[in-house]
Amino acid sequence: MAERALLILGGTSLAAAFAHAVTGLGIHAIYSLAGRIVPQAPPQMETRVGGFGGAAALADYLRKENILAVIDATHAYAAQISANALAACHAVELPLLRLQEPPWEEVAGDQWLHVKNIMAARDTAAKSAGRVFVSTGRQAMAAFAADGRCWWLARVIAPGTDLPALANGQYLYARGPFDLADEVAMLREHRISAVISKNAGSAATYAKIAAARDLGLPIIMIARPPAVAAPQVDTVQDAVVWLQDRLG
Ligand code: NAP
Repeated sequence: MAERALLILGGTSLAAAFAHAVTGLGIHAIYSLAGRIVPQAPPQMETRVGGFGGAAALADYLRKENILAVIDATHAYAAQISANALAACHAVELPLLRLQEPPWEEVAGDQWLHVKNIMAARDTAAKSAGRVFVSTGRQAMAAFAADGRCWWLARVIAPGTDLPALANGQYLYARGPFDLADEVAMLREHRISAVISKNAGSAATYAKIAAARDLGLPIIMIARPPAVAAPQVDTVQDAVVWLQDRLG
């Protein structure tokens, strides 16, 4: 039987920070990535890449790898893997912790328009027929590809064959963290009139929110999917405490 291991579902900077903290605890841990993009600094631990094949297959994996607990540190909008983790941990009777960034809060000067999903964000932007900065991730690009109602400036980490051509717009390739001066300059240079964003909650991508505020631009903010029914923390320290409690 394999040594009992902790499974970290990753793909975020918070997950990487947690993985880094775990390396100092002397626990066997496995870091899991979907494999959509190559991380800049993968954690120094055993890493597996690619989907498990759904919730039942994830449950099989948990049994086979003798997993002792799962930390779901995936992105707030990665709803499918979080639902799968919940179902699989329930099936195998394993403890599950959700580690995710708390959402950004609106502050004075922000002009957020709240919408429920990507399609609603696109259609809200289209009412202004302006030049729109989109930073919702590569999987969302299909929603914008054929839509000529706005000019879309879509920022993704890197080029790839999975990205559809934009009929009216262009891609911008960049990896965070981003700083405020650069974000202001980018929005000005492209004469952006509105921003579409997820409420990721990460400090690494907050500068675009502050930049839009400084420039008086509206942000079309896509709502987070509902949280899974599992204990939740939003800092590495709290996740380590939870883990140590479980490990005695
Ligand atoms: P998703 O819709 O919840 O997941 C789709 C499928 O990808 C899952 O069913 C699972 O495949 C696989 N998967 C996702 N995360 C995985 C992981 N950490 N390890 C192994 N398999 C994983 O997720 P998504 O929105 O496509 O995001 C994919 C990854 O990118 C996530 O890990 C997330 O943390 C990261 N990310 C997402 C966003 C975002 O805006 N959604 C932003 C930044 C980073 P199977 O069903 O085959 O197991």
